[in-house]
Amino acid sequence: MNTPTSRSDALELDQKDPIRGSRESFLLPEGVIYLDGNSLGPLPAAAVTRIDEVVQREWGRGLVRSWNDAGWIDLPERVAGKIASLIGATADEVMVADSTSINLFKLLAAALRLRPGRRVILSVLENFGTDLYVAEGLAILLGDGVELRLVPTTEIEKALSADVGVLMLTHVDFRSGEMHDMERVTAKAHEAGALVLWDLAHSAGAVEVELDAYGADLAVGCGYKYLNGGPGAPAFAFVARRHHEALETPLWGWMGHAAAFDFDTTYKPAPGVKRLRVGTPPILSLAALECGVETIAAIGVERLRAKSVALTELFMALVDQQCGGYGFELVSPEEASRRGSQVSYRHPDGYAIMQALIAGDVIGDFRAPDILRFGLAPAYIRHADVWDAVAALRGIMETRAWDRPDFRARARVT
Ligand SMILES: *Cc1c(COP(=O)(O)O)cnc(C)c1O
Repeated sequence: MNTPTSRSDALELDQKDPIRGSRESFLLPEGVIYLDGNSLGPLPAAAVTRIDEVVQREWGRGLVRSWNDAGWIDLPERVAGKIASLIGATADEVMVADSTSINLFKLLAAALRLRPGRRVILSVLENFGTDLYVAEGLAILLGDGVELRLVPTTEIEKALSADVGVLMLTHVDFRSGEMHDMERVTAKAHEAGALVLWDLAHSAGAVEVELDAYGADLAVGCGYKYLNGGPGAPAFAFVARRHHEALETPLWGWMGHAAAFDFDTTYKPAPGVKRLRVGTPPILSLAALECGVETIAAIGVERLRAKSVALTELFMALVDQQCGGYGFELVSPEEASRRGSQVSYRHPDGYAIMQALIAGDVIGDFRAPDILRFGLAPAYIRHADVWDAVAALRGIMETRAWDRPDFRARARVT
C-alpha cells in the first residue's frame, strides 16, 4: 500500500474496505475517534435492546423462573461456545466466568497440579500487573517451593528449565503490542515438559488465534476489550480437552459442582471446563457480552485481522510521514506478523500529549512510564479515522497544545 497523502486517499481505502458496514453495529458518539477499544470496547447496538429485554421481561416479569425459562443457567456455556469459534477452540473447551484475574488464579493452580514436582511459574518481566500479582499470590499461598520466576521476553526459551511447570504469557503485549509466536513457544515449552497458559486479553476478537491447532494447553481472556462485552464483562477460560480429566480447580463453588441443585455435602466436580464455574453467573453482563461476541463473530476473525493489519500499517506510515521530528519512538514491531491490533509510541511527554488528544475527541490511552497506546479495532475504525487521528496528533505537536499543567495532572485511570 502506498501511504495516502490526502484525506481523500484514506476515504478511498474505506470505500474498498470489505467490512466497512460493520461500524454500524456499534453506537459510537458522533465526532469521537475511538482508539481505545483494546481497553474498553464500544457499545454494540444490539446490546441496548437485548439488555432492555433481559431487564424488563426476563428479570422484571420472569423473575426466578428465568433461570430455566430464559435459559439463564446455560448462558455462560452459550457465550463460551461463541467465543470458542473466535479462538480456534471447540465449545466444550471454553467457559465464561469471573474475571481474567480470577481465571488466571484457577488455571495457574490447575497447571501446577498437572505438572507435579515442577514448582516454577515462568513469566516475563513485561507481563501485565494482574497476571504477575495473581501468580505471586498463588505461589505464597501454595508454599512448598512454588515460585514465580521472571525473565525478559527475549530469554523465554532459554529459561525453560526442568523445574518449570507452567509458562504464563500474554499473547499480545499490552504495552508494545508485540505478539508471540504461539505455535512455536507452545512447542518449545512442551519439549521442556512445561504447560503454557496464554492470556488472550489483547488477542480475542482482534487477531487470529488457533488454540487447538497450536496445541495450546490453557488460556484466559477478557470480555470487555475487543469482544465489546461492556465494562467489567465476564472473562473466559480455555482448557484443552486432553487436560479435562485431570483438571483440578482450587475454587470449588456450587455452580462448578456436577449437580448444583442436589446440595450434596461433598464436592464433586462437573465435567471438563464446567467445573471452572464458581458462583452464580452475572446475567446482565453475560447478555451484553453475548451481543459483543456475536457482533465480532458475524464479521469473522480473518477479515478483522486483515483490516487490523492495514490500519496499524497506515497509522505507523502516517505518523512517520507527518509527525517525524517530534520525538515519537515506535515501540510496536514493524513486522505485521509480530504485531497485534495496536500501535504504541514512547514519548517523554506522552501523558500530556494523550490528554490533549483526548480533549480533542481522539481517545487513546497512556501506559506508564511513557507509552502512548493507540488501539485500532478493525470492527469500527475507518482509514479516515486513522488519517484524522494522526492529523490531530500533528496539530497538537506543532502548536504544543499539550504543554499545559492540566494535561500533566494524572487521573486515577490512565
Ligand atoms: C486487561 C488485562 C487483564 C484484565 O484482567 P481483569 O481481571 O479483567 O481486570 C488481564 N491481563 C491482561 C494481559 C490484560 O491486558
